Amino acid sequence: MAFVSDKVKNLPPYLFSEFQQKKKKLEAEGMDVIDLGIGAPDLPAPQFVVDKLAEEAQKPENHRYSTYSGCQEYREAVAGFYKNQYNVDLDPDTEVLAVIGSKEGIANLMHAVINPDDSVLVPDPGYPVYRTAVQLAGGKSVSLPLDHTDGYVPLFNQVDASTAQTAKAMFLNYPANPTAATVHLDTFLKAITFAEKNHMLLVHDAAYDMVTFNGYQSPSVLQVPNAKETAVEFGSLSKSFSMTGWRIGYMVGNKEVVQALSALKSNIDTSQFLPVQRAAAAALTSDFSASAANNKIYQERMEKLHDALSEMGLQADQPNGTIFLWVKIPNGYTSMEFAGKLLNEAGVIVTPGNAFGSQGEGYVRISLSVGKNRLDEVINRIKALDLKEVTNG
Ligand SMILES: *Cc1c(COP(=O)(O)O)cnc(C)c1O
Repeated sequence: MAFVSDKVKNLPPYLFSEFQQKKKKLEAEGMDVIDLGIGAPDLPAPQFVVDKLAEEAQKPENHRYSTYSGCQEYREAVAGFYKNQYNVDLDPDTEVLAVIGSKEGIANLMHAVINPDDSVLVPDPGYPVYRTAVQLAGGKSVSLPLDHTDGYVPLFNQVDASTAQTAKAMFLNYPANPTAATVHLDTFLKAITFAEKNHMLLVHDAAYDMVTFNGYQSPSVLQVPNAKETAVEFGSLSKSFSMTGWRIGYMVGNKEVVQALSALKSNIDTSQFLPVQRAAAAALTSDFSASAANNKIYQERMEKLHDALSEMGLQADQPNGTIFLWVKIPNGYTSMEFAGKLLNEAGVIVTPGNAFGSQGEGYVRISLSVGKNRLDEVINRIKALDLKEVTNG
C-alpha cells in the first residue's frame, strides 16, 4: 500500500464485490445465477444511434480533440431537448456542458464547487456516488432525510437550521435510484426555495428523466422559475437510450457552475470522442420512440414482478419510472441477510438497501435488467423459498 493515497485507502468498500465473488463461486459450482443487482439496462442502444456513430467515426475531422465543453452540435441538441421536453430555454454556449457520463460530471463537480470540510446534503437512501464524490473532494456528506411513508420526498423541515445554513450543496435524484420514487414539480419548487434560502447549490441528477411509464412525465428542476440562479441538473444517455458504455451525459443550468466545472475538466480530460457526441445529439433530437419502446418493456417487467412479489407478501410501491423495484423485506432479516438468502438459496442477486445509506436498511433493490422469461424463473425460485423462516424461529 506504499504507493496508495489516503484518499483511495479511505474509499468505502465496494459493497457489491462480496456478492460478485459469491456469484463466481456459485457459477463455478454449476449454479445458474440471475443477476438483478446491476443498475444498467440490458437492452441495446437504438440502431440509428449506432449507425450515426459508425458514420461519424469515418470522418477524419472527428478524430481530433473536441472543444472542452463539448461540440456545438451536442450542446445545441441538449438545449433543444430542454426546450421540447420542458419548455426551458438554455444557452448552449454558457449553460450546457458535455460530461463523460454523469458519474464523471458529479465526481468532478464536487472538486469544482466545494472546499475541504464543506458539507453537502445527500439523499439517504441514495446513489452512492454522491457520498464518495463529496469525500474525494475533501468534503463531508450529511444525510438528507427522505419520507419513507410518502414517496421518498425530501423532508427539508427535518434538516436542522445550522446544517442547512452551512451546507454548500445538496443532491436530489428523481426518478430515484434506488427507491424508484418520482415527484411532481412542487417538490422541486420546495427544493429550490430551501436551497435559495440557505445559499446552497442544488444539484439534481436526472439520470432516469426519460425512463418513465404509466403516463407519468418527469419534471426538470429548471422548470421552477429562476431555478438557474440556484441549480444545475445532470442528464445522461445511459439509461434513456441504453448507452451506459458510451459515456455521454450533460450538465445544464447555472452559468457560473457550468463554467467552473468546464474550467476544472479542461485540466483533466478533453471531453468525449466527437462521434459519440454527434451520435448522442442524434438521439436527443430524435422523437424518443426508441426510449418509449424500451419503457414499455420495463413497465411490463415491472408489473409482472411487482404482482408476483405482492402475492408472496413482499411489498413494493409500483413505480412510475426507473428500472428498479424497491422492496420491503420480511420481518426478521437484515437487508444483507435477505439478499444473502436470495443468492444462496435461489441464485438471485439483488442489492441490499443499506448499500445506498443507513436509511435503506429493511429494503432490497431489484433491477429489471433481464427479460420476462428470466423474470418468470426468478419468481418461481423466490416462491419456492420459505421466507418466514427467520421470523418463525
Ligand atoms: C446510472 C446512474 C448514473 C450514471 O450515469 P452515467 O451517465 O452512465 O455516468 C447517475 N445517477 C444515477 C442515479 C444512476 O442510476
